[in-house]
Amino acid sequence: MEHRPDLPWYRQLHWQVLVAMVLGALTGLIFGAPAAARLGWIGDLFMRLLRMIIVPLVLTSIISGVASVGGGRALGRLFSKTLGYYVLSSLLATTVALFMVNLIRPGVGANMTETTQADLPPLETPQSPVQLLLDIVPENVFQAAASADMLALIFFSIVFGVAITTLPGKSRETVIELFDALFHVMMQLTSGIIKFLPIGVFALITRMVGTTGFDSFRPLALYALTIFSGLTVHLFITLPVLLIVLGRISPRIHFANMRDPMLIAFSTSSSGATLPVTLDSVENKVGVSNKVASFVLPMGATVNMDGTAVFECAGALFIAQVLGFDLTIMQQGIVILTALLASIGAAAVPSAGLVVIFIVLEAVGLRGPDVNLIVGAMLAIDRPLDMYRTVVNIFSDSCGAAIIARSEGESGVDTEIR
Ligand code: ASP
Repeated sequence: MEHRPDLPWYRQLHWQVLVAMVLGALTGLIFGAPAAARLGWIGDLFMRLLRMIIVPLVLTSIISGVASVGGGRALGRLFSKTLGYYVLSSLLATTVALFMVNLIRPGVGANMTETTQADLPPLETPQSPVQLLLDIVPENVFQAAASADMLALIFFSIVFGVAITTLPGKSRETVIELFDALFHVMMQLTSGIIKFLPIGVFALITRMVGTTGFDSFRPLALYALTIFSGLTVHLFITLPVLLIVLGRISPRIHFANMRDPMLIAFSTSSSGATLPVTLDSVENKVGVSNKVASFVLPMGATVNMDGTAVFECAGALFIAQVLGFDLTIMQQGIVILTALLASIGAAAVPSAGLVVIFIVLEAVGLRGPDVNLIVGAMLAIDRPLDMYRTVVNIFSDSCGAAIIARSEGESGVDTEIR
């Protein structure tokens, strides 16, 4: 997505969303339940638009990401290191999120919907790890797509992407180009839908305030605090520790060299839009070779999203808390795993993280109008969180590039602030 700081403030999305929130809150407050009933459908419509794009977005994003990596022996080594780093850093991110949610407990006792847990169907969990494994492999891909069985779809997309890399020259290129183009179509569609965010936010907030009054805002503030603290711990503690332990790199120098892309990520909320600047700084300031940077960063921009992983995990657990569910260890494990996969499946554009949270929710059987209502409320305050998580996303990519460059014997990495 383009970054246009030159636009007047009222044409910038985050201001529009803020105004929509205030107007929605006022409408809900003044007109109460009738306004909620009248306008609710607009919020539902917006949520349907978001859900509409999940399956094709995740499919094309993963297939094009995995396939573009290519084959070959030397690449194989780089590939395993890169994937190893992605998985490690994202898993740490979800662990931080889990810790924060259990510490702050933002959703416990919250009153955001009118139902109580007694009205809700019990959560689903696979009976055993073996069952989980079996569930990941779809019996029928189309059925998995039709029922938005995301774990199965992600599995299929990954193996499909890997299979593409084994095709001979010409056909491989054609197929990769095709999926790349389809992925761009989906990104365009996502950006187009996000333009209606202010209208969706207006309706969702009107309904929320019209139904439950301002009570709903206290848990939202705590929720925002949880995400904010999770992101902060990951950015300023976990990732620096990885830099020191795995790369013998000074975090202070690395932060200083990465200041430009971090600022751009903050103002665009898009790892994709930031990628050119990330590449430039990682090569020219951090001092990573073009070979490693151009391998680790583009794939990292869509696949390795630590900030998004924090958000997926904490967001889903928050919703479970609001609805009064006490998740078992097994269910929390599934949330961690699917949060990781959802962060892989999220596209590098604004608010993509919020779209894929349904993957995590579906995996533990959290669905229905109440869930939509809470996701809607989260959506209303998502923009500032999205800005911050995008910073964490691209910073983690840059740490990966620096650490892998060091492990490949490059000596000029982060030797000074440039
Ligand atoms: N906006 C984020 C990014 O581009 C994705 C997300 O919404 O979490 O990195």
